[in-house]
Amino acid sequence: MNEVYAIKFGEHPGGTRGEYFHGCAADPRDQRMQLDYYVWLVRTPAADIVVDAGFTAEMAERRRRTHFRAPSAALALLGVDCATVPKVVLSHFHYDHVGDVGAFPNARFVVQEREMAFWTGRFASRTEFHRLVEDEDVLRLVELGLAGRLEYVDGERELAPGVRVHLVGGHTAGMQIVSIATARGTVVLAADSSHFYGNVCGDAPFAVHNDLPGMYHAFDLMHELASSPDLIIPGHDPAVLHRFDPVDGLAGTAVRIA
Ligand SMILES: [Zn+2]
Repeated sequence: MNEVYAIKFGEHPGGTRGEYFHGCAADPRDQRMQLDYYVWLVRTPAADIVVDAGFTAEMAERRRRTHFRAPSAALALLGVDCATVPKVVLSHFHYDHVGDVGAFPNARFVVQEREMAFWTGRFASRTEFHRLVEDEDVLRLVELGLAGRLEYVDGERELAPGVRVHLVGGHTAGMQIVSIATARGTVVLAADSSHFYGNVCGDAPFAVHNDLPGMYHAFDLMHELASSPDLIIPGHDPAVLHRFDPVDGLAGTAVRIA
């Protein structure tokens, strides 16, 4: 049966609710909402599928994020040899999800056609979009495409029995989520379709989005796909590490979701 793990590799003190939730007024009593940075592992009977590629120590320094370890080193804690991973899903192209693709020399990367079209298209240079990607990351992805190492999806695709990607848009033009059939039911890896539990469970969109109806569509689809709301896994919420059992010896770093 498929297994799912979340593994933390970095963190940031974060911003306030007023900064992070769309349409939410700033309140001086607001606490900062810590952002955790994760990669996710889907262990299928046939092979490991990695979801997202985080960012490197160099990028952490440039953007002033705390970096505990490279995403590939985080995966190694669970026995994953990134050099042999055959498939990596990239939820979207923001810098904190695609920075360490170089650690997977033999992988094909699953991307939505619309995500690549957006970041190589007319509006990618506009400040509000451009600030969230690194040119070197986008260029590397273009190179991977030219090398035949991108697996393009337009919509939905089953990657392995019970493991599917779904185009949702919303946060970015080609944002995708992953649903996984497990012994606990269907788990949904939201990535940035829901930064925090408070987004998808509170019907409260994150402040950064490409289109707002798309974000609500993502909320609807995640509720539809997941066997219970508890199995929707937000992309940056520190609470994920408290809601699930830690992997032996890795409390505070890795949890087994299912
Ligand atoms: Zn993002």
